[in-house]
Amino acid sequence: MDKKTLSFQAEVKQLLHLVTHSLYSNKEIFLRELVSNASDACDKLRFEALDNAALYEDAPNLEVRISYDKDARRIVISDNGIGLSETEAIEHLGTIAKSGTKEFMSKLDGEQARDANLIGQFGVGFYSGYIVADRITVESRRAGLGADQGVRWSSEGTGDFEVEGIHRERRGTDVILHLREGEDEFLSLWRLKSIVGKYSDHISLPILMRKEEWDSEAGKHVQKDEWETVNKAAALWSRSKSDVTDAEYKAFYEQLTYDSTPPLSYTHNRVEGRSEYTQLLYIPAKAPFDLWNRDKRGGVKLYVKRVFIMDDAEALMPVYLRFVKGVIDSADLPLNVSRELLQESRDVKAIREGSTKRVLSMLESLADSSDEQTAADDKARYAAFWKEFGSVLKEGIGEDHANQERLAKLLRFASTQADEGVSFADYVARMKEGQEVIYYITADTLAAAKNSPQLEIFKKKGIEVLLLTDRVDEWMLSHLHEFDGHELQSVAKGAVDLGKLQDEDEKKQAEAAAESFKPTLERIQKALEGRAKEVRVTTRLVDSPACLVAEEGDMSGHLARLLKQAGQ
Ligand code: ADP
Ligand code: MG
Repeated sequence: MDKKTLSFQAEVKQLLHLVTHSLYSNKEIFLRELVSNASDACDKLRFEALDNAALYEDAPNLEVRISYDKDARRIVISDNGIGLSETEAIEHLGTIAKSGTKEFMSKLDGEQARDANLIGQFGVGFYSGYIVADRITVESRRAGLGADQGVRWSSEGTGDFEVEGIHRERRGTDVILHLREGEDEFLSLWRLKSIVGKYSDHISLPILMRKEEWDSEAGKHVQKDEWETVNKAAALWSRSKSDVTDAEYKAFYEQLTYDSTPPLSYTHNRVEGRSEYTQLLYIPAKAPFDLWNRDKRGGVKLYVKRVFIMDDAEALMPVYLRFVKGVIDSADLPLNVSRELLQESRDVKAIREGSTKRVLSMLESLADSSDEQTAADDKARYAAFWKEFGSVLKEGIGEDHANQERLAKLLRFASTQADEGVSFADYVARMKEGQEVIYYITADTLAAAKNSPQLEIFKKKGIEVLLLTDRVDEWMLSHLHEFDGHELQSVAKGAVDLGKLQDEDEKKQAEAAAESFKPTLERIQKALEGRAKEVRVTTRLVDSPACLVAEEGDMSGHLARLLKQAGQ
């Protein structure tokens, strides 16, 4: 077949530039990425072979081999997975299909582009090979195609790449890295083994390397023909909880998410009963860049009996828990389950409900830690969680009615008594004698809320008011009407009824004032005709002469402003 030269998609060029210029401080991740691709390719083969066992040909044992050649200055990562056809090589190695990647790239400005952490977190994939290589050659044959339909793809990782057809007996892919000048440190069994240990221990396939022995005549290590497995090759979540250390859980988190900041918390359980599954779920310490994209798929990977099925299986978690990362391994689902099927499966529903409860328990045990030893630390971690993800959790109030009560307990607010961290329970515990309802006000900013004239009477009487300044608060409160039997009442709506908190004298005064100011009120009402529904005397003000309130049951002024901003 003819050799063709093709050009990389513009985004690939951009990514290549970024990768080679930003990740030089953490070069070793290239191996993590290439081993992960090799492992994905084996997963894909196993998956396709469910319907077509012939794809295994005569090599049913899936594995990854890493080898190196010191003289030729090459590292080769081989797998006997699904392989690539020529078209696939052109498509998958020349363009970025994932819309998330494009979006991510377009958001990076110069400053951020140098933030290797951010890029590392995102997962840079195949192109990370160019951190250490000035040429990468990929030789592959797709499972099911003939030996005459192999492909060789090669590129220096700048503007373009070459593809040609080759003859190749072996199924699967060899990725051959031709090392850059100065990268010889990677040409060592010890070095490569330790990188595998660091990032790829939990890959559930064997990763093999050639054994070496010391040759005293030659005065150097020589490679033997014998291969040995250099990773643990056991899925971490399938091990018993008592056998896994905290450090291992954290290392697995990093491997799963590319996030080098340790998670705030995790939970690992084997669930038995109507639906049988294992869950290993993490709460990250930091929000990802695209947390606000509600279309973004969740962060939980689905396995069925240790076989990888899909990334980001959104049906496994409610949208408002989209920040949770981890793995769910089901014993019941069919291996060929699709995203569509997942949405309807009763097993998945049971898994989603069970996992939601687990996540809520995890949060509750931080927020309301009863462990004396760790309580202070747990509470600090909950505060950190709230700062990153609180607004997302609030979506659950409207979306998950079954857990609304539990979620309401997890909410934290600012109030007239504390700038943050006030729970409904704290508020209720501080309620005044005779106070029945929970008062709140919504505003764009904390300063605006604090200075609102509507608060005057509450300040005077020492009644706490929750200050809600998050965009989702109004929406959330349209779904939450009470806490623990106490109605939630906006101080910016209707005639504030202070109920038993108001003494008889005050009530009488107000009534008398309303009577004596009647002509004045009528004149003001007339002047504001069409702009104000009603003008009335109030006892809620102390220093200010007047304030605006919305009618009970109407949108608050704050929500009306938000909607107007949004063009509604
Ligand atoms: P990702 O793995 O997140 O999809 P990568 O940049 O790592 O992104 O890889 C791009 C694509 O190249 C993969 O999705 C896959 O289709 C293909 N690919 C990479 N390595 C291999 C391999 N060893 N075998 C088969 N296909 C591969
Ligand atoms: Mg990859």
